[in-house]
Amino acid sequence: MENNGYRIVFLGPPGAGKGTQASLLSEKYGIKKISTGDILREAVRKGTELGKKAKKYMDAGELVPDDIIIGLIEEQIQGVDSFILDGFPRTMKQAEALDRLLSERGKPLSHVIFVNVPDEEIVKRLTARRVCPNCGAVYNMIYNPPKRDEICDVCGTPLVQRSDDREDVIRNRLKVYRESTAPLIDYYREKGIFYEVNGVGKVEEVLRRIEGVLRG
Ligand code: ADP
Ligand code: AMP
Repeated sequence: MENNGYRIVFLGPPGAGKGTQASLLSEKYGIKKISTGDILREAVRKGTELGKKAKKYMDAGELVPDDIIIGLIEEQIQGVDSFILDGFPRTMKQAEALDRLLSERGKPLSHVIFVNVPDEEIVKRLTARRVCPNCGAVYNMIYNPPKRDEICDVCGTPLVQRSDDREDVIRNRLKVYRESTAPLIDYYREKGIFYEVNGVGKVEEVLRRIEGVLRG
């Protein structure tokens, strides 16, 4: 699989495994991964202006305003030919802005991959998610636990739970997903670049399904 010209969006509910799959593909094929959630969390950690603006929305499981996010993506994709977007776009306004940005350069999206996982499974996955605050590695205490109890395999740092991975916030994130993000499914389906992948199964199995789509 050549990485040239892959401009991929990962769409799907929170906890579908978008970040996990985007990281694997990014490493395997050398395609830049752009995760708006990761960028925002780092900004919150560093206490930057962006972080200060975003924090209250993230803690409540609400979306950060479109103008902030669109500005962020504009910066990130500058001069980048191939990329994987994880967690963006999440609203119709973001999707339209992305289309405009890419069509100005004559380099439209190549694939929108919808990773589908049922709600019950999502709550189970997200309450068991642990992340490394140092290197960003993502684990799951049920499905892919670290080798040593709650310690990062990669860098040895104690793992933490994301502050928005609490059941009440997860329920709100699912509601926001249904209202604001799920409509993008039809938007991209009409453009003929939409592919649905079953997100249930082992991480490696889901990866193989996605690679199958990308090979065509
Ligand atoms: P998203 O980026 O879509 O929010 P993540 O990639 O962070 O989702 O995955 C959510 C949680 O589910 C993490 O704890 C991750 O380790 C776990 N996970 C990812 N893919 C799978 C899978 N195929 N089966 C079981 N758990 C998974
Ligand atoms: P994620 O890591 O993708 O689950 O995102 C975590 C949180 O960051 C979301 O619940 C939102 O508050 C915020 N966020 C991430 N990406 C976006 C986006 N594209 N639009 C608006 N808010 C976002």
